[in-house]
Amino acid sequence: MYLAELRLINFRNYARLEASFSPGLIVLHGANAQGKTNFLEAVAYLATARSPHASADRELVHFGAREEGLPFAHVEGRVQRADGLHHVRVSVTLGEQEGRRTQKAVVFDGRRLPLLEYIGEVAVIQFLPEDISLIVSSPAVRRRYLDVTICQIDRQYCHDLARYTEALRQRNAALRALQEQGGNPEVAWLWDEPLVRHGSYIIVRRRQIVALLDELVTRVHAELTGGRERLRLLYLPCLELGRRAAHQLSLGLRPTVWGTGRDEPTSLHDVETEFGERLRRARDEELRRGMTLIGPHRDDLRFLVNARDMARFGSRGQQRTAALALRLAEMALIAEKKQDAPLLLLDDIMSELDAHRRAYVGRALEQYEQAFLTTGDLDLLPPSLRAQARLVRVEEGRLVWER
Ligand code: ATP
Ligand code: MG
Repeated sequence: MYLAELRLINFRNYARLEASFSPGLIVLHGANAQGKTNFLEAVAYLATARSPHASADRELVHFGAREEGLPFAHVEGRVQRADGLHHVRVSVTLGEQEGRRTQKAVVFDGRRLPLLEYIGEVAVIQFLPEDISLIVSSPAVRRRYLDVTICQIDRQYCHDLARYTEALRQRNAALRALQEQGGNPEVAWLWDEPLVRHGSYIIVRRRQIVALLDELVTRVHAELTGGRERLRLLYLPCLELGRRAAHQLSLGLRPTVWGTGRDEPTSLHDVETEFGERLRRARDEELRRGMTLIGPHRDDLRFLVNARDMARFGSRGQQRTAALALRLAEMALIAEKKQDAPLLLLDDIMSELDAHRRAYVGRALEQYEQAFLTTGDLDLLPPSLRAQARLVRVEEGRLVWER
């Protein structure tokens, strides 16, 4: 798919923008703080109705919007998918007074959609400078990565995730109240059934998708590193085998289970059975600690190079390469599952890569349907990529087409 048109009103430092794009590579360059990242953020926001950077949607609204009497940000676009041209508008409206709730609305092909139903209509992959945090940060970052990726290709997953999160919230609230005030624990166990039902689907899908990503990532990574290193993804579910593998890893041992589904319960039914049993066994401890201890909210995903955990033993360069390989693998996975190439957004990643890796990324982009890439320095682009790209200079929230 490709983005054919984009229109912004009061989004970040873009007071107004109207632009059309053709397929191919579009390079946005310019000095610092001109709006390169903001532009990519706008496209990401159009595709996911979520910002990769802002902690609250109101941050996206232009600083001067309220004074101007237009207290909202609009991101609107036309996306050419394999099945035709689609129109999307995502808008954020500030509350009437400072501090009041902001409202967000998504309109897809003229119909207002709940967020959950919109996710996945426009697939996007974002390469961000902070991607290295996928490898080194907390498990929550990696769970979110899995959720965002899987939601784009499986709406059912998105629904189960929302229901799971709600059941977990209720169950934790009940456990906390029981810990503080005592009472009949049945109020907490009431939530076991939805927790297990929705959580098991999450576990099964995470395992399947990680197995697919694992295959792709191993291949990409071998090419990136000239075959010297072997990157594997290891899914560590909250269940028994995940625990065993995590323990082996923590001892610096090579895990005997790879989380690719071979040694683990495979069917949804098996996972539900094990999840339910573990939950019942954890009851005393859960009452003591006032929270839910078993479930996919405690899963992790690890990156191993030659069977060593990248987060603990990898060099910065190795970690960055692993993160890049993951994004490239994700590109292939989503394109295959959706039978349509996702939009690609690459924010300032060339400066972090050596010439060999830049050339590899360049080759991947040359064949791609459409990609937006930002850079502060055009000289970092591989020459053949630069020759075929359309160049846009970004200047104080405006796009100046150069070629
Ligand atoms: P760099 O090369 O440093 O990464 P960039 O071109 O990617 O720069 P952006 O992050 O896109 O820069 O834009 C940053 C500018 O946008 C900053 O000057 C910032 O003050 C401005 N900005 C951020 N949020 C808003 C907002 N809500 N309203 C107006 N301007 C904003
Ligand atoms: Mg930037």
